[in-house]
Amino acid sequence: MSNAPKCPKCESPYSYQDGSLWICPECSHEWNQDQRLKDEDTSVYDSNGNLLVSGDSVTVIKDLKVKGSSQSIKVGTKVKNIRLLDEPIDGHDIACKIDGFGAINIKSEYVKKQ
Ligand SMILES: [Zn+2]
Repeated sequence: MSNAPKCPKCESPYSYQDGSLWICPECSHEWNQDQRLKDEDTSVYDSNGNLLVSGDSVTVIKDLKVKGSSQSIKVGTKVKNIRLLDEPIDGHDIACKIDGFGAINIKSEYVKKQ
């Protein structure tokens, strides 16, 4: 029982699992632990560990090759108004538009917040 999560409502350690749900016998609260973990995992951080949110401006810290293009995005390129992807595509968790490239997805580990 040591891996049972505490009840998020009353912190009881006596929760038990029923299918995909966890149930607290003390306050009858039911919750989905997987969903909670998933929610936490969707936070996106830049190369310095700063939390990124949609609408942020970032700077590219590494030359990035672009699929289907002979050009690469150069280090120091400023990107305005990023949008975070709920479901990363191939590890790319930021959607944005870059002059000369159009709509493109990049990885948060290759940017820093301005
Ligand atoms: Zn509880």
